[in-house]
Amino acid sequence: MMVVMLRHSSCLYNLSPTRDHPCISWGSLSKTIPILLFVPEAVVSKDGSISSVGERYNMAFKIVRTESRLVREILTNHGFHEVHPNSNDFNLMWTGSHLKPYVLRSLQDFQKVNHFPRSHELTRKDRLYKNIQRMQQTHGFKNFHIVPQTFVLPAEYQEFCNCFAKDKGPWIIKPVASSRGRGIYLVSNPNQISMTENILVSRYINNPLLIDGFKFDVRLYVLVTSYDPLLVYVYEEGLARFATVKYDRTSKSIKNTFMHLTNYSVNKKSSDYVSCDDPEVEDYGNKWSMSAVLRYLKQEGKDTTSLMKQVEDLIVKAVLSAELQIATACKTFVPHKTNCFELYGFDVLIDSNLKPWLLEVNLSPSLACDAPLDLKIKASMIADMFSLVGECIRYGEKVNINRCQFLKLTAALLYVNNVKSGN
Ligand code: ADP
Repeated sequence: MMVVMLRHSSCLYNLSPTRDHPCISWGSLSKTIPILLFVPEAVVSKDGSISSVGERYNMAFKIVRTESRLVREILTNHGFHEVHPNSNDFNLMWTGSHLKPYVLRSLQDFQKVNHFPRSHELTRKDRLYKNIQRMQQTHGFKNFHIVPQTFVLPAEYQEFCNCFAKDKGPWIIKPVASSRGRGIYLVSNPNQISMTENILVSRYINNPLLIDGFKFDVRLYVLVTSYDPLLVYVYEEGLARFATVKYDRTSKSIKNTFMHLTNYSVNKKSSDYVSCDDPEVEDYGNKWSMSAVLRYLKQEGKDTTSLMKQVEDLIVKAVLSAELQIATACKTFVPHKTNCFELYGFDVLIDSNLKPWLLEVNLSPSLACDAPLDLKIKASMIADMFSLVGECIRYGEKVNINRCQFLKLTAALLYVNNVKSGN
């Protein structure tokens, strides 16, 4: 929900808004604060009744250093008008990179931006691992065994060699701050590593769960609306991305990225990549919906409820591992509690024992819609995200959004808090 806070001095009550608009909900206590509800249909249709809502309240947004057609269309078709990237007259700023301290400091209470300061504690591969390793040390290795063992090179080269003496791998090499599979390769010996600055080496999960013989991973969308108190949501639907070459566990195919990497940006280059034109068909080709994968696994007799519980647990633990740093940065740089929100892309690999592993957390997950299934999932997700983001705990208001597919991770949080306090 977008709590309507006006940018100018005009008073809400003078606007006499209609009480029965499909895109407006009213705060449950005072019933005087209109809250905007976003609908995914806005992406495909320019409906006057939908766009009247943003126009009525003179809502404005800007998009900076990124190109997101989906975000622009959803906002524009809800009647938000776009202002120049240099303008400060906005309700919502959507940016592709993190924000400079002076930009954060200048935010007013009605303004929202889509990143928290120091989010790289989660989204840089080396920082994520270090933060989780710290949690393993303080709260028990077992409780935070959610990422494959990792070494940052060249600093930890000797530790890696000691470990390699016991575990011959294969191991996977990644640049610390890259994405889309760029610069990633597998090695079966430390001397195969080209030693550049800022790389990490992780234990390769060589028993991935396969569907029809293919490796896949899952992209999940995680929304944080506050770090203090911590409010984490996971979107119920996600995307499974399949490799284009059947998986072979022997190390003879170690160089075949179409077999070992599941990135869309890698596999779309393969002539074997199969896309699907029908948004209603969710289990065909190289990209499935996560719910289609879960249905498939359930049919195979797998305990998908337990799997999803573990996935939720992993998400909360990862966010918790960076909570303190990000909350501290918010205290330092962000003037109002409700200024920031962030949508993270969690990449999760499930192994053949049905254990999920966190591979990485993406800052600004791709909102590109190459296939109709992308549009179907991402448009609903973005609409629900904007609806939720306005749910400030302002004035004690609480609003129910019907059909919202973001699931609040409270139960899992309690569990982790128990782990935290050693219960
Ligand atoms: P990038 O940010 O470049 O996409 P990722 O960490 O997501 O980097 O890795 C890219 C792909 O490599 C993943 O989607 C997955 O298929 C594979 N991969 C990464 N790490 C591992 C691992 N430890 N074990 C098995 N496969 C992995």
